[in-house]
Amino acid sequence: MKIIEVKAKEIFSKTKLGADWVINPYVGCGHQCLYCYAKFMAKWRPAEYGKWGTWLEAKVNGPELVKGREAKGRVFMSSICDAYQPVEKDLQLTRRLLENMDKNIKLSILTKSDLVLRDIDILKQFKNAEVGLTINSFTGKAKEIFEPAAPEAAKRIAALQKLKEQGIRTHAFVSPIIPKLIDLPDIVSKTRNFVDYYWFEFLNLRGAGKEFAQILQKEFPESYKIVSNAALYQKFIDQITDLINSFNIKIRGIVKH
Ligand code: SF4
Repeated sequence: MKIIEVKAKEIFSKTKLGADWVINPYVGCGHQCLYCYAKFMAKWRPAEYGKWGTWLEAKVNGPELVKGREAKGRVFMSSICDAYQPVEKDLQLTRRLLENMDKNIKLSILTKSDLVLRDIDILKQFKNAEVGLTINSFTGKAKEIFEPAAPEAAKRIAALQKLKEQGIRTHAFVSPIIPKLIDLPDIVSKTRNFVDYYWFEFLNLRGAGKEFAQILQKEFPESYKIVSNAALYQKFIDQITDLINSFNIKIRGIVKH
């Protein structure tokens, strides 16, 4: 992973991603999810950086920029990185940002990593903070191909439980939902006792990019057959939506692209 240290002019950006502001301590992500929807960012970076997932920019002045700042509305972390990707363990950029952040800020973190547990002490100081973990059913070959460097689902589920036990509001972001590669009853039964609410998101094949589509077609042809056919995919989405609505859980949203 190539780490490029940068100084940002601003650390709060306006967003429409279910919040008012977004903070990205990094641009780029070492979790290397094949379907990553943030890979479009590579278009605006020098070609010599290389492939998305092999580099990241670390906004080293982020902790200074956030000092003394107020934010009206909800602040989301993060949209074009995972604030708890592997390098965060050593760099502690996200941790230092949270330390300096106004604790009145309504904070919402979404991550795939149990590394977020390290910062429970700071999260507890916020008056209104919540943490979501992305949960899916990728195991074996699917996990290796789609999310090679992200922690296993079991660790993410355990993280949700621990956060809840520590009094932090939690949610599960069940994504991406891919035919034949998702077991929603299993996910809900393993999480419902310590998740305040759920988001569900179906795969956005176009957003996931050409390489993802090609590999899905080669390695999981039955899944590809459904998601690449508008009528079949719609039927799948309708069936799964009915299933989701039968769970008797709090649902904040079901995202269909
Ligand atoms: S964790 Fe999120 S930002 Fe990071 S590679 Fe995966 S999808 Fe992209």
